[in-house]
Amino acid sequence: MDNKKEIIRVDQLNKSFGDLHVLKDIDLTVMESEVVVLIGASGSGKSTLLRCLNFLEMKNGGDIFLDGEKINKSTHDLNDIRQRVGMVFQHFNLFPHKTVLGNVIEAPIHVKGENKANAIKEGKKLLDKVGLEDKYDVYPSTLSGGQKQRVAIARALAMKPEVMLFDEPTSALDPELVGEVLSTMKELAEEGMTMVVVTHEMGFAREVGDWVVYMHDGRIIEYGHPNEIFDQPREERTRSFISSVL
Ligand code: ADP
Ligand code: MG
Repeated sequence: MDNKKEIIRVDQLNKSFGDLHVLKDIDLTVMESEVVVLIGASGSGKSTLLRCLNFLEMKNGGDIFLDGEKINKSTHDLNDIRQRVGMVFQHFNLFPHKTVLGNVIEAPIHVKGENKANAIKEGKKLLDKVGLEDKYDVYPSTLSGGQKQRVAIARALAMKPEVMLFDEPTSALDPELVGEVLSTMKELAEEGMTMVVVTHEMGFAREVGDWVVYMHDGRIIEYGHPNEIFDQPREERTRSFISSVL
């Protein structure tokens, strides 16, 4: 019995910056509740792919479907689309002059027009969920990097996205803070959140990923279940990338 629905589908996506062809004929499908992990060397196009999925970058060719519906800037308000596709970046980009709770409720109130009392109630629930129940009223500057990133996750979740994109969420963290962010992400995955995660954390990819996608030079070279990609990659390039990062 498999009645999962398709959340994201990318069909022959191409993206260039001037003469630089960064994404080449990308096909990718992400089903509901799946965790897709993107791996690949720096410069291979992973961030650009996520940014195209969130319409922070505009594709040059191909189609992007969300919930089976083809999304175009001529037919859709991309701000609405961005609410449905949450994103967490390497650098947390919190508002420094707002409290932790203030950061989380900002967009629900000002972008979605939620009522404040409700946004506060929901925001506290999300902060509890990411383990920051004692930090509602402090300012970001007083937090560790791992705590800041968990605020950023709560802030993205506050918009009730259908899918969450993570772009190297632990790369800027001190090593001892990586685990707390990965375990927050793992819990989210276990609750059924659909996620696309760019990471160099191969342990996370293996443990939490349903699918691992290896990108090289703007192309998807190989994708498969984590054990296929890590233990028996079909492509030599995948094998050499994996042995370089393990
Ligand atoms: P990754 O996330 O895998 O490291 P990126 O998607 O950031 O790769 O970058 C892919 C390529 O696109 C790189 O060559 C990078 O320099 C280039 N690139 C990314 N963003 C821009 C941009 N805004 N303008 C021009 N080139 C860019
Ligand atoms: Mg990147």
